[in-house]
Amino acid sequence: MNKIFDNTEVAFSLKSNSDLKKAHFLFKSIANPQLVKIGTGLTNFSLRVGLPVQGIIKKTIFKQFCGGVTEEDCLPIIEKLNEKTVTAILDYSVEGKESEADFDKVMEKKIFLIDFAKKHKEISFATLKPTALGRFLIWEKKSEGTELTDGEKKEWERIEARFDAICSRASENNVPLLIDAEETWMQDAADLLVEQMMEKYNKEKVVIFNTVQCYRWDRIDYVKKLEAQAKEGNYKIGVKIVRGAYMEKENERAEEMGYKSPICVSKSATDENFDAVLTYIMDRLAIFSLFIGSHNESSSYLAIDLMDKKGIAKNDPHVWFSQLYGMSDQITYNLASNGYNTVKLIPFGPVKEVIPYLIRRADENTSVAGQTGRELTLIKEELKRRRL
Ligand SMILES: Cc1cc2nc3c(=O)[nH]c(=O)nc-3n(C[C@H](O)[C@H](O)[C@H](O)COP(=O)(O)OP(=O)(O)OC[C@H]3O[C@@H](n4cnc5c(N)ncnc54)[C@H](O)[C@@H]3O)c2cc1C
Repeated sequence: MNKIFDNTEVAFSLKSNSDLKKAHFLFKSIANPQLVKIGTGLTNFSLRVGLPVQGIIKKTIFKQFCGGVTEEDCLPIIEKLNEKTVTAILDYSVEGKESEADFDKVMEKKIFLIDFAKKHKEISFATLKPTALGRFLIWEKKSEGTELTDGEKKEWERIEARFDAICSRASENNVPLLIDAEETWMQDAADLLVEQMMEKYNKEKVVIFNTVQCYRWDRIDYVKKLEAQAKEGNYKIGVKIVRGAYMEKENERAEEMGYKSPICVSKSATDENFDAVLTYIMDRLAIFSLFIGSHNESSSYLAIDLMDKKGIAKNDPHVWFSQLYGMSDQITYNLASNGYNTVKLIPFGPVKEVIPYLIRRADENTSVAGQTGRELTLIKEELKRRRL
């Protein structure tokens, strides 16, 4: 197969020489697990005691992985992406809120961003994280089937109302909405609610997408269940497939509480499961829309190979590829330049609020996790090609 992701000229075409050197420095630094550990500790400590570290964070790791503080800040980036036929998703990455007033604010922000996406055609999707709309404990109790107190029942009703208000606006504005998946012990309640939203809003076309985490060994059966339900209810299904971001937490909880881990036994088992789910859905695009959220080259090659073999057009509106802003540009820009529907997910928000997101990116990019090796190699190749 033609190895399109090896083309570093296309991959880094939006990066100036100085940008590229800065990215090189950053990825080299976060490749060092010790440095990441010290940096994370220092950042948390400095923020707690009020030391002025936000400026330096903003110029370095924030600039690499976030689009800005506000949605307006992200517009110049979105325009640049669009020159390369890459569309954008704006992800307001503020996490860990606990009050009803905060949950209402999140709902308003999400609705505002759906309207914003309608105005800016280069923004192709909106996003929603279920636990941003209500306390984690309520999701957890609902998932376990534990009886809620009267107060909690009211909380749950407010969660459902916020959820529906966002989905309804997405449907009115014709802006597809990707709903994130989180920890397994809250996910059953989220799945159920998203399925109800799909039944309500995906009658003609897919507006609502659920997320399937393929590091869970039970997810191919879940996809088959979704398919059966949708056939029965006469609606369509949107699925964002990812590997999954909570592996350590999941394994630790399962061990502590003595149940079988919901996570595949190895990385290669997760890879196989991801590819099996991808293949299953790709065979059924009459009912499914598929959104592939991954930085894995081999799965991305599999997807384009399947599309080629099945005669699915590269720009078929039922298939999308996506990577996070600041990562795996070799996949994003080479897919886009070859005509595939490609989208960058751009997190944004106040620097202090997005720090948990940035720490996850740094952790994921240490040499232990492996991804940096690939990022660094490609950056080095491009620096060499430009004779820098
Ligand atoms: C656009 C987009 C949206 C996303 N949305 C979500 C979301 O809603 N929910 C969510 O949970 N994540 C989400 N993610 C993150 C995603 O789940 C992965 O953590 C991340 O993309 C890394 O996986 P990969 O496919 O890119 O690549 P790879 O680097 O090939 O895979 C790394 C992943 O493999 C799995 N893995 C690693 N080691 C093992 C092991 N020993 N055993 C079993 N599995 C292992 C883990 O899931 C790990 O994250 C999203 C990612 C993208 C790009």
